[in-house]
Amino acid sequence: MTEDLGIGVIGTGMIGQDHIRRIADVLSGARVTAVADIDRTRAEEVAAKRGAKVYDDAGALIAAPEVDAVLVCSWGPAHIEAVLPGLEAGKPLFVEKPLAVSQDDCLKIIDAELTLGKRLIQVGYMRRYDAAYAALKKTIDSGAIGAPLMYHAAHRNARVPADLYTDDMAVADTMVHDIDVARFLLDDEVARIRVIAGKKNSIGGRLRDPILGVMEMAGGAVVTVEVSVNIQYGYDIRGEVSGETGTAELAEANRVVLKSGDSFCGRVPADWRERFIEAYDKELQDFINTAKGGTVSGPSAWDGYAIQVVSDAGIKAASSGEIVACEMVKKPALYT
Ligand code: NAP
Repeated sequence: MTEDLGIGVIGTGMIGQDHIRRIADVLSGARVTAVADIDRTRAEEVAAKRGAKVYDDAGALIAAPEVDAVLVCSWGPAHIEAVLPGLEAGKPLFVEKPLAVSQDDCLKIIDAELTLGKRLIQVGYMRRYDAAYAALKKTIDSGAIGAPLMYHAAHRNARVPADLYTDDMAVADTMVHDIDVARFLLDDEVARIRVIAGKKNSIGGRLRDPILGVMEMAGGAVVTVEVSVNIQYGYDIRGEVSGETGTAELAEANRVVLKSGDSFCGRVPADWRERFIEAYDKELQDFINTAKGGTVSGPSAWDGYAIQVVSDAGIKAASSGEIVACEMVKKPALYT
């Protein structure tokens, strides 16, 4: 396809609007031709700015002739109702995380993709496109630190909305990014998870905050993930892999270290949008480039399923205090 890819966006909330902005103003090779949102007024406002058509539901948007590929940016429980018809129509789909909100629904999606016999889904786990994580992965794969033995991560948010954020979200919405990164960096699946509540941060009110996820990978490597969501000072993402002969650590995200007087300092990003803005650009540009050829790359429906299994086990582990096994179906050859 030489002309621009026509993209239909389902869900015009925060991330939907942000992706529409990047397609229109930052990326190349695509334009937003259609939008749908359960809130029609919101969809109409967004469409008017971009010259896109408005559809009442996911099915109508997917069937539209000006839609070559689809972005699913509605809230998680609504993803399945867009993804299955999208696959049926044979259109490439970029699905914001989570792929779906239950393992059964993830497996239905995998079955539908297997029936097609090719990948059409890219899931929005964007950290794999971040330059620092990509460099960390390259370092591990080069053998520079020997066999990786442990991955230590921290995900710290300045604050979360007290009335909306729940204990389960600390695993299902926040820790999932590091679950994906651990699988990506170590090239392995999570076998077991335990979640420990730390000494409570009084700023978090009723929330169990911070928590520590401890995971054992199938090959024996150990992963620890601190999730702190009221750390106040900024959005601080850390990751370090220790191997048999060395360690490799994500560099600080700021580009300038200011030295003045007798001290040095750098900026801590305000939030995930600032920290990962380039990764979001890259993941979507990759989607556009591959969708034009009728396929996709990047995080797959299998990744979406495997992360859902670990997330469900993590939520169980957090409430029971037990170590919970992450039991997965056999990985189909399409995803190996
Ligand atoms: P949001 O602001 O609430 O936007 C979701 C939008 O989808 C809202 O406009 C919502 O309408 C609409 N919607 C709900 N059900 C729908 C349906 N059946 N059909 C069409 N539209 C529907 O949420 P958000 O923060 O943008 O998050 C959207 C998705 O992106 C979530 O899955 C979230 O986990 C993911 N996300 C990923 C990242 C990342 O780092 N990759 C970051 C942020 C969000 P109402 O408001 O009327 O319900």
